[in-house]
Amino acid sequence: MQNFDFHTHTTASDGSLRPVELIELAARQGITTLAVTDHDTISGLDAACEAGKAMGITVIPGLEISIDFEPGTMHLCGYFIDTTNQALKNGLKIVQEAREKRNPRIIEKLNEMGIDITLEEVNAEVGTSRAGRPHFAKVLLEKGYVNSIQQAFDSYLAKGAPCYVNKMRLKKAEAIALIIASGGIAVLAHPIQLKLSTPVEYRAVFSELKALGASGIEAYSSYHTNQENMLFKSLAEELDMLVTGGSDFHGATKPNVKPGVFGDDVRIDLNRLLKKMNTRTVQSLNQNY
Ligand code: AMP
Ligand code: ZN
Ligand code: FE
Ligand code: FE
Repeated sequence: MQNFDFHTHTTASDGSLRPVELIELAARQGITTLAVTDHDTISGLDAACEAGKAMGITVIPGLEISIDFEPGTMHLCGYFIDTTNQALKNGLKIVQEAREKRNPRIIEKLNEMGIDITLEEVNAEVGTSRAGRPHFAKVLLEKGYVNSIQQAFDSYLAKGAPCYVNKMRLKKAEAIALIIASGGIAVLAHPIQLKLSTPVEYRAVFSELKALGASGIEAYSSYHTNQENMLFKSLAEELDMLVTGGSDFHGATKPNVKPGVFGDDVRIDLNRLLKKMNTRTVQSLNQNY
């Protein structure tokens, strides 16, 4: 495992550990630099940064924004964002409202299939009205309708399953602009989830993201084989983009994913990477995309 991780979640989105618990776990495991990247929200960052200071861990304030993309899923991580930035707050509010509009429609579809489930039960899982599909899955599991979280997705919630409801997502350019406007840098998360067919296609998307202002690629990911890690690293380097790595740790929500684990042969010099990131954040502040 590595002593750093650029991709982790907390209870602010669909992780199972509270920000302070995540930082405690990271500290116990010898992680010294941790980016907290919850889905479409920055609400866990203040607590995470505070815990990081108390425990001597460098916490990078981040987030992970879902992008409108076919055929697969595109997620962009932002790092070193200014959590007080108003443009970013406004942009995220629009995304969160879209989520809140979607959830009653998922409930309706589940009810139509004869499943006894209410929005209140789902919201109770997360403590806010911003539940995501993993929270629906958890209720289905607890009520005995499925035997695993994965089965809840496969039978009901996944794209293409009977209770799937799409939600409005930001465009690539919008998300990158928001991240840059808040002083941060944008990095494509787990490229394999784009579900493209050839290296040439991946290269084209990386290049497009770079042209829009993105700085890097999460070439190392727990979702990649070692071979895929190598492929994405070489494509990123070819395009002069930063190479990062992250586990996408979610705690009990994804029990097989461990913090700091994203490949067997990770060739990232953390200090060099942080220096380069720092240079790019300064550029972000001086650029108008
Ligand atoms: P949401 O943001 O509400 O659409 O939920 C997205 C989250 O659901 C992702 O971060 C994954 O953790 C999980 N997820 C999405 N699709 C699947 C799937 N097919 N199988 C298992 N988990 C999934
Ligand atoms: Zn997630
Ligand atoms: Fe993701
Ligand atoms: Fe993630």
